[in-house]
Amino acid sequence: KLHNTILELKGNIRVFCRVRPLLPDIDSSGADGAVVSYPTSMEFLGHGIDLTHNAQMYSFTFDKVFCHEASQEDVFVEISQLVQSALDGYKVCIFAYGQTGSGKTYTMMGNTEHIYQKGLIPRSLEQIFQTSQSLKCQGWQYKMQASMLEIYNETIRDLLSPSGGPSKQHTIKHDSNGNTVVSDLTIVDVCSIKEVSFLLQQAAQSRSVGKTQMNEQSSRSHFVFTLRIFGINESTEQQVQGVLNLIDLAGSERLAKSGSTGDRLKETQAINKSLSALSDVIFAIGKKDDHVPFRNSKLTYLLQPCLGGDSKTLMFVNISPETSSVAESLCSLRFASRVN
Ligand code: ADP
Ligand code: MG
Repeated sequence: KLHNTILELKGNIRVFCRVRPLLPDIDSSGADGAVVSYPTSMEFLGHGIDLTHNAQMYSFTFDKVFCHEASQEDVFVEISQLVQSALDGYKVCIFAYGQTGSGKTYTMMGNTEHIYQKGLIPRSLEQIFQTSQSLKCQGWQYKMQASMLEIYNETIRDLLSPSGGPSKQHTIKHDSNGNTVVSDLTIVDVCSIKEVSFLLQQAAQSRSVGKTQMNEQSSRSHFVFTLRIFGINESTEQQVQGVLNLIDLAGSERLAKSGSTGDRLKETQAINKSLSALSDVIFAIGKKDDHVPFRNSKLTYLLQPCLGGDSKTLMFVNISPETSSVAESLCSLRFASRVN
């Protein structure tokens, strides 16, 4: 039995692991298809996860491990404080990492048609708008701005662009206040959950247009939702500026070495590059290195002000429980335990 990780909360970086249930429509060769064993001490929540591959057992420890029985609500309860801190002026990033089909989009967006299956993006927004309303009586006025983009092959696409076209070249800069500025990116003032839901729909449409053209682009690109929060207290003259970034990463699966050529190979290289850049950055921050290599990918450069300093980062590592996914699951757990 190998002990890969030791649990240690390093600064403001946390890693949560979530194992999705076996799906009825995927052939998982019955219940014994489940190769992942869950924590038994609690019903759905623990810290450890074991996995057996080639007769070798691997154990990993994370800040939290959600087994297949954990509901969206169970997950949200564990992150609501983190979301809340964006209203207090913190810069927050929440990532979903894992192979395609492991539940990243379910965790982030969920099924918005079923109230119990709503993911953490809609739940976070509901909480933020509700709380900002309730803070009014203490003199707080909040202004919020939303933007949504995707990074595909190291190129930024504005998902709220009125023209919808990918024609514009977007560059990333950091201003003197330490904020990220993406040139020509659509930024929308939002006052209600309804307004943001509408924008999320628009972004989803904008992504799926690309999808038919570009080989399931949505699992090959990183989706970045950003909510900027400006708060001012009229009685105390206090000001806060928080940012909430919610990121559905591209699928982490490695393509078989043979068979990936041309565009597909280029895509895979871009994804590998940016995911390993992300891991390098989070690892360096966790180790408190002087040099953090933010510039190695668009994603890390974009998020630079929200990853360092006193910002807060949470990474979900999503796991597919099927035997056929065990090699990928091991890769994901290793990736996540490096950043943990
Ligand atoms: P990814 O975004 O990582 O490619 P998805 O979120 O699309 O994966 O999930 C793949 C499938 O599994 C979807 O049909 C989704 O509804 C389902 N699924 C994922 N996680 C869960 C979960 N925790 N409970 C129920 N169904 C889930
Ligand atoms: Mg997805």
